[in-house]
Amino acid sequence: MTEPTTDQTTDNPFWSPAVARLHPYVPGEQPKTTARLIKLNTNENPYPPSPKAQAVLQDPQLPSHLRLYPDPESTELRTTIAAQFGLQAEQVFVGNGSDEVLAHAFYSFFQRPEPLLFPDITYSFYPVYCELYGIEARTLPLREDFSIAVADYAIDGAGGVIIPNPNAPTGRYLPLAEIEQLLKLHPERVVVIDEAYIDFGGDSAIALIDRYPNLLVVHTLSKSHALAGLRVGYALGQAHLIEGLNRAKNSFNSYPIDGIAQKVATAAIADRTWLVDNCARVIATREDTCAQLNELGFEIIPSTANFIFAKPPKISAEDLFLALRERNIIVRYFNKPRISEYLRISIGTDEEMAALVAACREVL
Ligand SMILES: *Cc1c(COP(=O)(O)O)cnc(C)c1O
Repeated sequence: MTEPTTDQTTDNPFWSPAVARLHPYVPGEQPKTTARLIKLNTNENPYPPSPKAQAVLQDPQLPSHLRLYPDPESTELRTTIAAQFGLQAEQVFVGNGSDEVLAHAFYSFFQRPEPLLFPDITYSFYPVYCELYGIEARTLPLREDFSIAVADYAIDGAGGVIIPNPNAPTGRYLPLAEIEQLLKLHPERVVVIDEAYIDFGGDSAIALIDRYPNLLVVHTLSKSHALAGLRVGYALGQAHLIEGLNRAKNSFNSYPIDGIAQKVATAAIADRTWLVDNCARVIATREDTCAQLNELGFEIIPSTANFIFAKPPKISAEDLFLALRERNIIVRYFNKPRISEYLRISIGTDEEMAALVAACREVL
């Protein structure tokens, strides 16, 4: 297991008081060896990335490019992303993983006297960025069925809004009409829609960018492009928002995307056919898995992502998590209020999911 990085000694005399106060994000376990292990805990894609992205790495000239600094603006990558969505390159910001893009968005748009609004159950990096940048967080409870109640976000004096769509770790999708309501509630503040999982079945809010100057949509190559190890994410919005992000980025790191990552990501984004096929495959496996777990009596939140959020019958989520771990299957368990009876299970290959279902059947 990863050592928790929180709650360690906070009285180190070399640390600044601000660092001593932090509670850093703890990522899902990345075991040193994945031999014999079925890894369904961090929503990685079970398949290798696009062959066109892989081919870039076979280019014998690639190492010689590393002598030079990369393009600080990632122009080719941004142009390729823009073309996919019918946008201009000035409407695209790229970062070292969407986590870095999100960090710059928090810094650029949410550091205000008013609180930032987000759901009580959501991506657990959001409160970490709030703490890092001294942003007050105001969390709004999801409904009993884990859907987002948009009307609750009608709060005067909000500093901004961020939600993942579909939400993590629930997998629940919020229709675009409701995203539009959110945008209209806070026309003077930025609304970030974190679409890390949108390719697995939802409609993207990118279609709304032209009409809403306060909309920023964030995507990652880590999940649907099977490139979690490359660390590339991007944000899309009107040019004035992208300029705000660039001010933060260029005050922090001019070269967040290395020269290899720029080339691999460009090839991956251009290969739309691979993306569509891969997502269809993952979605088909997800639907099969849901049907089989349903039969075993699991309660499953409807998912539009490459994972499912499921409550096991007869046994606590924690006990099932431990029993699966003994059988070399890792899923994600969150020991947190409201969700401690659920497991988040990433969608693997058909064989991996068959092994998961068989193990659950055995344990139950
Ligand atoms: C995985 C994930 C991210 C981070 O993705 P990276 O690009 O790998 O940093 C951001 N937001 C949500 C909701 C995620 O699940």
